[in-house]
Amino acid sequence: MRFSKFYAPTTKEAPKDATLPSHKFLIRAGFVNQYGSGLYNFLPMGKMVFDNIKNIVKEEMDRAGANEIQMGVVTPAELWKQSGRYSAFGKELLRLHDRKNNDFVLGPTHEEVAVDIVRGKVTSYKQLPLHLYQITTKFRDEGRPRYGLLRCREFTMKDGYSFHDSEECMKKEFDNMDATYRRIFTRLGLDFRAVDADSGAIGGSGSKEFMVLTDNGEDDIVVCKSCEYAANIEAATRAKKSTEVEAPQADMAKFHTPNCGTIADVAEFFKVDEFYTVKAVIKKAIYEDSEEVVLFFVRGNDNLQETKAQNACGALELVDANEDEVKNAGLVAGSCGPFGLPEDINFFIDSELRDEKNLICGANEHEYHNIGMSVLNFNDSRYKDLVEVSAGDKCSCCGGELGVTKGIEVGHIFQLGQKYAKAMDATFLDQNGKAKPFYMGCYGVGVSRLVAVMIEASHDEKGCIWNRQTTPFDLDIIISNIKNEDELKFGESIYQSLKEGGYNVLLDDRKDRFGPKIKDFELIGFPYALIVGKGLKDGQVELVERKTLEKTSVHVDEIESKIKELLA
Ligand code: ATP
Ligand code: MG
Repeated sequence: MRFSKFYAPTTKEAPKDATLPSHKFLIRAGFVNQYGSGLYNFLPMGKMVFDNIKNIVKEEMDRAGANEIQMGVVTPAELWKQSGRYSAFGKELLRLHDRKNNDFVLGPTHEEVAVDIVRGKVTSYKQLPLHLYQITTKFRDEGRPRYGLLRCREFTMKDGYSFHDSEECMKKEFDNMDATYRRIFTRLGLDFRAVDADSGAIGGSGSKEFMVLTDNGEDDIVVCKSCEYAANIEAATRAKKSTEVEAPQADMAKFHTPNCGTIADVAEFFKVDEFYTVKAVIKKAIYEDSEEVVLFFVRGNDNLQETKAQNACGALELVDANEDEVKNAGLVAGSCGPFGLPEDINFFIDSELRDEKNLICGANEHEYHNIGMSVLNFNDSRYKDLVEVSAGDKCSCCGGELGVTKGIEVGHIFQLGQKYAKAMDATFLDQNGKAKPFYMGCYGVGVSRLVAVMIEASHDEKGCIWNRQTTPFDLDIIISNIKNEDELKFGESIYQSLKEGGYNVLLDDRKDRFGPKIKDFELIGFPYALIVGKGLKDGQVELVERKTLEKTSVHVDEIESKIKELLA
């Protein structure tokens, strides 16, 4: 391809709302252009990267035995009514109707359509298992489209749906997809972890997320430095926290503790380690049609993990309780403890505090704390995992040190069981001739999101740094001065020869000066550039590696073999 005929509108300006490198560089390097909130067009170079990623995904899905299909984006609402998701899905589902007032949705995901494809057609266990997948457009009316291609409204997903005659068979395909996703993300050259989305334990659960570890990301990921353990912070567990500091020995007693509103004040007052104090976090839990003040108790030097807390009480949402709400619930802010609470107060205690002794906690009386307390005799259902794992905690699998990093979700695999097949009445005849709902799995990869993820994973302050698997072009031949006939001739000849050799090269034959051309090379981020410039009269050209920006002089007689060796 010749740059003079290529559409890659590079600019110095990044959009005002772009905070992440991938968002800035995708626009500045002319990979995509935004035409509405959460809506992007892929320009030639963006399309090339997108196709490279898509091809890797397709190759690995085909290799895993899945069948590629293509479903429509517009889906009759009737199918969504059958599964019950038409009303349950919420505002992300874009609902529309046609001229006859029939309801439709723009597909945010395609479980219903997949079930409808096999329903009544796949009728016998002999036709199972079956895996159908597609790489197509999805629409989700996201509340906050942002970060460029990372969270769009229209995006491309690889979504696969598998059908099975037993749970065992479904689990086998889940493992097959686990391995397939690992191959995909390894081929893309990404640093990723498979994270258990339900409980934080590796294996044995119904859903796994694939997270790419990056400096910027929407998720916090807990990663063990010694073993494979990784989990979303919302589900991460740790080995029980301990301390070398000795426990304060004291009989049960109540103390007047003036001006001790925080854990730090309390620890200072009693001259004890915060480890031996109990922290109370007061929240207001919002349910479908009610709300209540709920108390959560964790160790003084731990923090409450809000999603865990929300799961503990089953609320739709947790918000801060205001002063009046706290007072009306009969609570004394700053002095709350698990003992002697008003009878009707709902509360939960972190499991790590169970049976712990010698603790200091609020006495539920203004400016009073209890010492020498033991957390005994509470109902089992009061104990929940509530703590936020933090860097330096110990791994529950191997005892190694845990770290916390940012991550971006690029894939998600699910064991759906019979949920959709039952709801939509999709059955097959088993070996005994009995009708049985299918077992299903579903598996998603964020293909367009991956275009941005590749940049988040590999860039510097000047621009993108593509690897050979995803780059639009492997080599950028830059003719330094297009008016110099020798330079032009040499550039053309090496371009022709490499192109004929099947190499993926771009010839920068634009009438621009050298400065903007090399800047574009650095911004766009092809793996190599070959600069044909003044040195040519002495038989020398320069090869630049984008990753290191290192330049090497190469003799013109050796350049072709050198490049062929690099790009082999
Ligand atoms: P998220 O938690 O990021 O919203 P999700 O759980 O809704 O993701 P899935 O429904 O599992 O995502 O979709 C499969 C994949 O599609 C995700 O792993 C992600 O890579 C991608 N994806 C989801 N929503 C978007 C979006 N709004 N823009 C771009 N890609 C997306
Ligand atoms: Mg989502």
